[in-house]
Amino acid sequence: MNKRALWIGLVAVAVIGLIILISKTSNKPEPVPTPSPSPSVQYEIIGKSVEGRNIESYTYGAGDEHLVFIGGIHGGYEWNSVVLAYNAMDYLETNKESIPENLKITIIPSMNPDGVYKVLGKEGRISEKDAKPTEETIPGRFNAHNVDLNRNFDCKWQPESTWRGNKVSAGTSAFSEPEAQAIRDYMLKEHPSAVVFWHSQAGEVYTSECEDGISDETRNLMKTYAKASGYKESETFDYYAVTGDAEGWLARVGIPTITVELKTHENVEWDRNLAGMKSIINYYGK
Ligand SMILES: [Zn+2]
Repeated sequence: MNKRALWIGLVAVAVIGLIILISKTSNKPEPVPTPSPSPSVQYEIIGKSVEGRNIESYTYGAGDEHLVFIGGIHGGYEWNSVVLAYNAMDYLETNKESIPENLKITIIPSMNPDGVYKVLGKEGRISEKDAKPTEETIPGRFNAHNVDLNRNFDCKWQPESTWRGNKVSAGTSAFSEPEAQAIRDYMLKEHPSAVVFWHSQAGEVYTSECEDGISDETRNLMKTYAKASGYKESETFDYYAVTGDAEGWLARVGIPTITVELKTHENVEWDRNLAGMKSIINYYGK
């Protein structure tokens, strides 16, 4: 082999190597943007989704009484509950003086980030501009294992459950999914005074229980949020049988929890939910 042929060979190998390297680099998932919350916010990554996206919590205030608000357990299908949670964070950030001293308020804006990504194609914070028609967002209700996370908790858990008459996967066991594990571990560590889950769309506020009956505290919370927001009061969700729901498990471990169903899938219904959130803050604030 002459020198010229050797050089051509070497150059060819280098070019092929470079092409492989570039194609591998461009196949990498988009980097998750690093949030830069202000110093007055306590930021924590409480877990990771199936596809490795962060499940984040943002905490405002430093009191002993702890309230937690959670958006997006049903991912991109209920994207407006995620946007509502981000808007609530903005509100708490700019209205720090409105947080009573005895309170600490945590927002977990997006409990099912893979479900958001699946149908909206966006990482991190989303806004009303990202909205898509409801029929297109249905697959985003589930996590990357196609599990309905609000059927994966340890309250009457069954491997299959229902959603509007359809069978849905509830996971291979209670807490098989990392998103449900993150919430379980956070709640058992923090044991908050109350939890609110934002969903859509029914325009109602529900209590929770797990075969032990509804506690007075939970009923009071439901009535408080319903009255302030104008959503309908509801003792129990009885449109179809639900097993393995997060709210029921929280009730079982003694944490009063309510479910707020926004009326539509279209917007965050801000005024109603701000009034609801403030009513819960007032209920516990001193
Ligand atoms: Zn939901």
